[in-house]
Amino acid sequence: MVGAKLPMAREDGNLSSVERRKESRKRLPSWFRTNLPTGKAQLAFNEVLGNVLEHGLATVCQEARCPNIHDCWGKGTATFMVAGEQCTRACKFCAVGTDRRPPPLDLEEPENLAEAVDLMGVTYAVITCVNRDELPDAGAAHYRACLEAVNRRNPDVGLEFLCSDLNGDLNALSTLLTDLELLVFAHNVECVPRLDRRVRDPRASFDQSISILREAKRLRPDILTKSSIMVGVGETDEEILHAMRLLREANVDLLTIGQYLAPSPKHLPIDRFPEPELFSKWGQEARDLGFKAVASGPLVRSSYRGGLLYEEAMNAGEIVTFGDSETL
Ligand code: SF4
Repeated sequence: MVGAKLPMAREDGNLSSVERRKESRKRLPSWFRTNLPTGKAQLAFNEVLGNVLEHGLATVCQEARCPNIHDCWGKGTATFMVAGEQCTRACKFCAVGTDRRPPPLDLEEPENLAEAVDLMGVTYAVITCVNRDELPDAGAAHYRACLEAVNRRNPDVGLEFLCSDLNGDLNALSTLLTDLELLVFAHNVECVPRLDRRVRDPRASFDQSISILREAKRLRPDILTKSSIMVGVGETDEEILHAMRLLREANVDLLTIGQYLAPSPKHLPIDRFPEPELFSKWGQEARDLGFKAVASGPLVRSSYRGGLLYEEAMNAGEIVTFGDSETL
């Protein structure tokens, strides 16, 4: 297997497990260095940043301190989160806070979100959400209201929704998707099936995620479906290939594969750092399996270059390789 396992302990053996995790987090491999954009991408990034600062806008890209921010904003993609700041689930990899009874939904959020997308000046918006398991429809009607408002005000902006699993409720999925203006419906399986319990909240599972993705495609064959796998949480290379096959069997069109990075020492520790060549190999295997577009690289996140990934799937050829920020 290509890639490096993290050292489990220092020679003196005196550090606690939390301290060891902190040490490990500092030692990111060299391929995690990012390049600043140049040329047109730099101008586009500066323009988006100027809009964000001028209007005090909030995006997931900034709040998560995403390392791809220059890259994505320079290519017109940004991610926004809806339905609150507290999630009803507690996945072990995620930095979002947990609250089983979060505050009520903000009914002004759809219009405020639509305005933020407008003011920011992006060409492709990824809207994501926290889980709202406490609501009878798992948040589906509110998610839909947000997407409709964005589309009404920004009909030329490409829209992708990165959805929760809606508690496995296929009726709620129908409420969300029927006749909705949307280019991509995304839902992340996050990890290979064997690691569900280790990585995700007990209410989530690979099978439940697959059922949502399969049903989304059945309900709306005209929109693309998308999912994402994090590596470095304990999976084997064979399991990644198997997970990709299961996603294709559910007719998932787009795939992203990226490195898991622990948000804090209290989160799930990183198991390994596969080298970029291995990500490229997985990317090729995914294309060979029939995914219409793939982004696979250490820094790839679910929404990485979302607009370009969509274009790639719509027959623009292979344009979303990782790390070529100057050429696109
Ligand atoms: S990967 Fe997603 S969160 Fe990160 S900068 Fe790109 S759009 Fe934003």
